[in-house]
Amino acid sequence: MIDYRAVLNDKVQAIKPSGIRRFFDIANEMDNVISLSIGEPDFTTPWHVRQEGIHSLEDGKTWYSPNRGFMELREEISRWFKRHYHVEYDPREEVLVTVGGSEALDLCLRSLIRPGDEVLIPEPSFVCYVPLTEMAGGVPVTIETKAEDKFRLTAEALRAKITPKSKLLILPFPNNPTGAVMRRKHLIEIAEVVEEYHLTVLSDEIYGALTYGDTNHVTFSAIDDMRERTIVCNGFSKAFAMTGWRLGYAVGPKEIIGAMTKLHQYAIMSAPTTAQYAAIEAMRNGDEDIVYMREQYDMRRRLIVDGFNAMGLTCFEPEGAFYVFPCIKKTGLTSEEFCEKLLYDEHVAVVPGTAFGPSGEGFVRVSYSYSIKHITEALSRIGHFISQF
Ligand code: PMP
Repeated sequence: MIDYRAVLNDKVQAIKPSGIRRFFDIANEMDNVISLSIGEPDFTTPWHVRQEGIHSLEDGKTWYSPNRGFMELREEISRWFKRHYHVEYDPREEVLVTVGGSEALDLCLRSLIRPGDEVLIPEPSFVCYVPLTEMAGGVPVTIETKAEDKFRLTAEALRAKITPKSKLLILPFPNNPTGAVMRRKHLIEIAEVVEEYHLTVLSDEIYGALTYGDTNHVTFSAIDDMRERTIVCNGFSKAFAMTGWRLGYAVGPKEIIGAMTKLHQYAIMSAPTTAQYAAIEAMRNGDEDIVYMREQYDMRRRLIVDGFNAMGLTCFEPEGAFYVFPCIKKTGLTSEEFCEKLLYDEHVAVVPGTAFGPSGEGFVRVSYSYSIKHITEALSRIGHFISQF
């Protein structure tokens, strides 16, 4: 009998399974469950984008691409940044095409972190930052963001967590799960602290194309003097509804992108070729698709925010991504209890806020990446559930 605890890497063993797993296991075994839990677009990839993938296969383009990704795609990414964010990146050395934004995040952490370096992570946040930091040998230092600050990271909260070991700040905005967005003035305040303490910044801007109202996404690298300190991770999953194609990218200073490319070349070789052909088309001719999908999300966002507020679950108005993060404290239940009871009583699945860190307690994450009909039905069931409290 082999003792696999002696076989497995200690760090991997210490990683906690995602907080949502137990909950999803229950949901999967139930009938008639209406879910608002998914973290991906409900749209299919636009047809003209799919077509380019198909054409590339018909043409027999089935080989590896260069390690960094096809030059044509890197040029398009570079143009995209210039067109949307007015920041220039050299496609030869400052752009790396990866397997989803996920790979870009991992490569960045592994390229920068030395043993014991502290990584500052706003919380609640996407689930991967803490385990990837730990695997890279770093120490995650979470910074609680608060509903009263619209879940933005404040310079004050950041400053309070800085130590001589602080190395990297992760900026996860627009945020999953809160939908918070940092505007230029907030980023400028953060940049002052970054400069003062010589931090490096990993800006996860995967939801950058999905902001609403008068809020336009500002990339952190567009803030004065931040370009040289920042690696921006982004991808095609959310903006172009391309989750299954597994394509993302990182842009940043050539020294850091070069280091990431070394890891990428040994671990991955190159991102999927078919997906890269599709992505070239998405970057060239996909702006209108984004506008359309954003308008649809925005309608749903307003419906769901109004719905929660009307039933007395205070809901901060998110300005980006496709999640709302209503406060469920008035029910007296913990986030987990709320989600479990809602699932058993009304067959509606949402995600406990604590899946995104302990500071998510008292909140649940609700995705509005669903049709209006679906959302309306779910809201009606949740309303019924809430009426007992
Ligand atoms: N960052 C955030 C904040 C996300 O929510 C996700 C996906 N849920 C990712 C990165 C990774 O996306 P992908 O690997 O599909 O590009």
